[in-house]
Amino acid sequence: MPAVAGSNDELRDRLRTLLTELMLIPGLSGHEGRVRRYLAAEQRKLGLTTRTDRLGNLIATLEGEAGAPDVMLFTHMDQLGFVVRKIENDGFIRVERLGGVPERALPSQAVTICVGEGRDRAGLIANKSHHATTPDEKYKVVPYMDLYIDAGFSNRAEAEAAGVLIGTPIVYRPQVIELSETRIAGTSVDDRAGCAVIVEVARALGEAAKRPTVHFVFSVQEEFNLRGALTAAQVLKPDICIQLDLLLATDTPDMAYRGNVTMGGGPGISLYSFHGRGTLNGTIPHPALVSLFEKTSRAEDIPLQRSAHTGALTDSSYVQLVEGGVASIDVGFPMRYSHSSLEVVDLGDLEQLTRLLVAGISSIDKDFSLDRDDFVG
Ligand SMILES: [Zn+2]
Repeated sequence: MPAVAGSNDELRDRLRTLLTELMLIPGLSGHEGRVRRYLAAEQRKLGLTTRTDRLGNLIATLEGEAGAPDVMLFTHMDQLGFVVRKIENDGFIRVERLGGVPERALPSQAVTICVGEGRDRAGLIANKSHHATTPDEKYKVVPYMDLYIDAGFSNRAEAEAAGVLIGTPIVYRPQVIELSETRIAGTSVDDRAGCAVIVEVARALGEAAKRPTVHFVFSVQEEFNLRGALTAAQVLKPDICIQLDLLLATDTPDMAYRGNVTMGGGPGISLYSFHGRGTLNGTIPHPALVSLFEKTSRAEDIPLQRSAHTGALTDSSYVQLVEGGVASIDVGFPMRYSHSSLEVVDLGDLEQLTRLLVAGISSIDKDFSLDRDDFVG
């Protein structure tokens, strides 16, 4: 098995830098340009040629062994947030939600209004003055329709002159807080952590003596409609799809009943995901890929956690249905506080996830079977 270049510490440092830089770049769904530019530059440093499809997906291909199944390794580069819905005459900004934004965690959050690089404006989601809050308001969630953003404008004309228009993207103010040596809180760990890991996987696989053909895809609009990666898959027609995103960490007091995924417990695979409201989709992974990561975990002495839950899904749900079917699996890192302005991840988990992916993918060769009948349990 090829090793990841450099020591554990070097890999961890590179992941820390990539993750930190990526979390500081705003990239609302449908407005991923700044993130894409950063990732394209990182891919070019590795000697990879990148291309962007019409939807905005960033794609780079590393050629490998002829006859081995082609792999599409992907993760989304967009983040959730808001778009401007209305500018009030007094300069306050009303917003529409874009993605699964938790309304109860919004008042008094800082935001960045993305009017253009170098011209972005700061704002905050107003929280009614505490001294004027009535007892029945104290424990109520304010619906997003009633929230407003204060960006320092005195009237609508000032806001418009600053470039704020209906449809302007707004994200949580990008920030990074190092909680400990290994744990980082930041904006959009989901899924800039996945982006950082793919950059490092691409680096290691580029140096590997043996590997299948791998398409690295940084996808768009995941937080919007979960289908951005589809256009890439329809063109690339991979045999295998490996999707990277968070796994819900369940080791906090409010999540304990949901599973056994712990922060710092290593990477994991999802054995079942499903979302019934509107989307009616999910991913039950191909058994060849479950087996691949189980074997790799044992051979490389990397822990492998298991997740199964309803309520969330990823683009792999749609990618698996392309052409005659794509063998798919969701692989991920434990993460806390999903979709809040600050999410928490452990760098050790990202480092082990990188190693798991490099070892697992590089072991896929022409004898790798995707025949369901070889995996009858
Ligand atoms: Zn995500």
